[in-house]
Amino acid sequence: MLIDGQGRRVNYLRVSVTERCNFRCQYCMPEKPFSWVPQENLLSFEELFLFIKVVIDEGVDKIRLTGGEPLLREDLDKFIAMIHDYKPDIDLAITTNGFLLAEAAHKLKIAGLKRLNISLDSLKPDIAAKIAGKDVLYRVLAGIEEALEIGLNVKLNMVPLKGINENEILDILEYAREKQIKIRFIEYMENTHANNTIEGMHGREILVKIKERYTIHALGREGASPSFNYRIEENGYEFGLIDPHKHDFCENCNRIRLTAEGHLIPCLYFDEAMSIAQAVKEKDINKASSILAQVLRDKPKENRWSEEELDSREQSKRAFYQTGG
Ligand code: SAM
Ligand code: SF4
Repeated sequence: MLIDGQGRRVNYLRVSVTERCNFRCQYCMPEKPFSWVPQENLLSFEELFLFIKVVIDEGVDKIRLTGGEPLLREDLDKFIAMIHDYKPDIDLAITTNGFLLAEAAHKLKIAGLKRLNISLDSLKPDIAAKIAGKDVLYRVLAGIEEALEIGLNVKLNMVPLKGINENEILDILEYAREKQIKIRFIEYMENTHANNTIEGMHGREILVKIKERYTIHALGREGASPSFNYRIEENGYEFGLIDPHKHDFCENCNRIRLTAEGHLIPCLYFDEAMSIAQAVKEKDINKASSILAQVLRDKPKENRWSEEELDSREQSKRAFYQTGG
């Protein structure tokens, strides 16, 4: 069993399979980075899998593939099948922007995928294009339809931004409710890679928008999930709020992150990371395990988004497109 330096059980690994992306989201990668990690520095699926087996054997029972855009990585279905075949009951999910999903969904399902989170920030084509940097909406909606049609379990993620999509919180909530899928509203997490003119909405501001139409009841956090859940009194629909600016957010953190080039990252906020690349290339399981132990020992108590006076201190330098969110 994996226990971190703060006594929290870690049972969840997020793997960013590529930093590349076909979107240029304002809050993540508004411009193409000056340089990408060279292709030869990426770990192969076999190398990533070697580490995945180590953590599964240590009790990790939830794995999410993310990016960048994970569907851009060739043979993602084969990677999913490798993990699924090793432990068929693992909670295996991906997070995707949905643009390539309509074509890929069936293959992913056959490989063993059961769940996906799809980012949906707007139902208006021009606003979706403003956020993602290109015309994306209809392909994303087609991806959601296809995933639902073939029986994949879908959740939606929306990042509300002031003056951009803030007036669509209720529309997107209704869209999700009609389709009977869960939506989680994610507070924008400030970072140096984002467009510095955007401003996120605080969790309480998101709730104010929802309360304009509904009475809501707080249900609390679901186990170690970062999502704080609410139920709408009028129709029973439940939605989530991911609020990393709140002080209790990190208390039950159960996850570590692995990047496509093998950096093992203990916290989404901080720069600290250790590389397992050499260990897995040399197939040195002991070395990979000892790096894992050190990362767990040093996992921070909490992020710094939760601190007051965000403006007066340095922002997180971690790129969401590298860590996978
Ligand atoms: N490309 C995929 C996608 O967009 O769903 C997966 C990678 S993306 C980094 C994972 C999640 O992080 C998405 O739901 C995205 O909205 C979220 N995200 C990215 N940058 C963020 C930020 N600065 N604050 C809050 N959420 C962010
Ligand atoms: Fe790409 Fe996802 Fe980042 Fe948007 S949030 S730029 S889709 S990695």
